[in-house]
Amino acid sequence: MQERKDVGAVAYFSMEMALDPAMPTYSGGLGVLAGDTLRAAADAGLNMVAVTLLYNEGYFTQVLDVRGNQLERPVTWEPEEFLERLDARVAIEIEGRQVHICAWEYSVTGVLGQEVCAYMLDTDLPENSPEDRKITSRLYGGDERYRLRQEMVLGPGGIAMLRALGYENIVTCHMNEGHSALIVFSLLEEEMRRDADADVDELLQRVRDRCVFTTHTPVPAGHDQFPPELVSSVLGSESFARLTEYGCLLDGHLNMTYLGLHCSRYINGVSMRHEQVTESMFPGYPIDSVTNGVHAVTWTSPPFLELFDRHIPEWRQDNRYLRYAVGIEHTEIMGAHGEAKRALMKEVQVRTGVTLDPGVMTIAFARRATPYKRAEMLLSDLDRLRKIADAVGPLQIIYAGKAHPRDEAGKELIGRIFQLGEQLRGDVRVVYMPDYGMRVASYLVAGVDLWVNTPYKPREASGTSGMKAALNGVPSLSVLDGWWIEGHVEGVTGWAIGEGWREESDDEEEAESLFDKLEFVVGPLFYSRPEEFARVMRYAIALNGAFFNSQRMLSQYVHNVYRLEAGQ
Ligand SMILES: *Cc1c(COP(=O)(O)O)cnc(C)c1O
Repeated sequence: MQERKDVGAVAYFSMEMALDPAMPTYSGGLGVLAGDTLRAAADAGLNMVAVTLLYNEGYFTQVLDVRGNQLERPVTWEPEEFLERLDARVAIEIEGRQVHICAWEYSVTGVLGQEVCAYMLDTDLPENSPEDRKITSRLYGGDERYRLRQEMVLGPGGIAMLRALGYENIVTCHMNEGHSALIVFSLLEEEMRRDADADVDELLQRVRDRCVFTTHTPVPAGHDQFPPELVSSVLGSESFARLTEYGCLLDGHLNMTYLGLHCSRYINGVSMRHEQVTESMFPGYPIDSVTNGVHAVTWTSPPFLELFDRHIPEWRQDNRYLRYAVGIEHTEIMGAHGEAKRALMKEVQVRTGVTLDPGVMTIAFARRATPYKRAEMLLSDLDRLRKIADAVGPLQIIYAGKAHPRDEAGKELIGRIFQLGEQLRGDVRVVYMPDYGMRVASYLVAGVDLWVNTPYKPREASGTSGMKAALNGVPSLSVLDGWWIEGHVEGVTGWAIGEGWREESDDEEEAESLFDKLEFVVGPLFYSRPEEFARVMRYAIALNGAFFNSQRMLSQYVHNVYRLEAGQ
C-alpha cells in the first residue's frame, strides 16, 4: 500500500474509470478520459487521488448475432487479480439503513515511477442486506433509485472513505461529470460541524472554494435528475430538507449537473465549442474549457512506439516532442502504419472470422451506438459508395460500438448497419467488430486509414477517439464539432465534413460532403498520391498528437484550475 501524502492533494471523482483494459469498470469516453487523466497525473507525479466504484459485474460484454442483434452478457472478473482490498470500512445512511462500504486500491505507475491511487468503492460486504450488497455491482445498470444509491456511495461514501484513509487536507475535489456531485453535501456538513455559527451562504462559499466541476455532454439525457419523492426516500427527509435550504435543488428536483454548477468555484466544458454550448445551456454560470486529451503512451500502437522511441526518445516524458515527428521520413510513417494495419486485420479475423485486405483503403466508424452519432451516414447512399469504390479504389469499413442496454434505438441501429453491409456484399466490405472497449479501440485507432466521425452538431462535447487516431498518424474525416474544430486544418491534419460553418447539422448537406470528400479528395490522395497522404499522417501526429494528449490537458488543469504546481 502506498504512502499517503494528503497535504494539497486533488481528489478526482468519476462514476467510471478505465484503469486496465481487463477491468470492466468503464463504458466509454468518460471512463477512458478518467483513466487517461490518472495516467497523466502519475507521469507528472501529481498529488492526486481518485475515487470510483468497483463494479464486480462490470458493464456488459457485447455479443452480436448474425443479424446484428446485441446480446448483453454479464462480465465476470476477479478484483483480487488487479487490486488490493483495504481494511478501512465506512458507513453512510441510505433509505434509513446503514450501508457499509470498503475500498480496493489500484495503483497507477507513471513514466518516472511515481504512483497515483484510485480507490474503488464496494458495498458487497456481509454486513449489508443482499440488495445493498449489489449497489456497486453494475455500471449504468438498474433504475433511477439504483443510480441514486450508487451516487450516494460515490459522493458521500467517497468523501467518508478518503477521510477514513487519512486524507484530511485535500485542497480540491474535482467532479468528473455530475454523478459525484453529492460530495458537496458531505463537504457542507463538514463545514457546518466545524463552524456551527456560519450562515448558509458562508458555508456554501467555503465548499465552492474547494470544488471544481467538469461537464461532459450537451445531450440532456446525460444529466442525471431525480424527483423529490425519490431523493427524500433515498437521502432521508432531513437531508432533503437541508438540500432545499442550501438552494441545491432545481424546481424541487435533484439535478446533479446543477448541483455541481451551484457548488463549484470553477466549471469547465471539454472543448472550446462545448464551453459555448454549455454557457447557453446554463446561463449565469461562468464556464471555461479545458479541451480533452488522451494518454499518448497508452494509445500509441507498438510500431509507432518503436518509431517515436527511435527518433524522438524524449516524447514519453514530454509529449510536446511529438512535434518533431515532422522530421520523420514518409516511408517510415507508412511502414509503421502498415504494421499496425496488419495487426488490426489479424484481430478482425480472430474476432469476426472476416478476412480484410491490407491493400484496401480502410475506414473506421467506432462509437457508442446511439442515434445522434449518425452511424448510418456513411451507408446512406449505397450506390454512391459503390461508384466511389469502382472509380477511385476499393473500400472496406469497420464498425464498432455498444448500445446502452436500454437504448432501443441504438440497438436497432446496429441491426441496420448489418443489413446495409449485407446489401453492399461484393462491392464494399463492411464488418462490425463486437465488444468495443479499450482493446478493440487500440487496434482500430492505429490500423485504419481514415477515422470518420459524424455526430449531430453540437452534441459532441469533445470526442477523444480521433485524438488516439492522430497519435498513430490516422487522419480524421469528421463533422466540425467538439475537438475537431480545434484540431482540423483542411488537407493538413485531415478533412471536414460539411462546407462552411453551421451551428447545427444538416443531414443531407453533410452526407453529400462526406461522399464528395471520399470521392474527390481523400480516396484519390490515398490511392494515387500515397506520399502526400503520408504527409497528412505526419501532420496528424506533429500538430495533433503533440497537443491533444492528457499531459497537456492535465497541465492546464494544474495551472488554470487546481491552484497547485506540478510536482506537488
Ligand atoms: C476513446 C474511447 C471512447 C471515446 O471516444 P469518442 O471519440 O468520444 O467516441 C469510447 N470508447 C472507447 C472504448 C474508447 O477507447
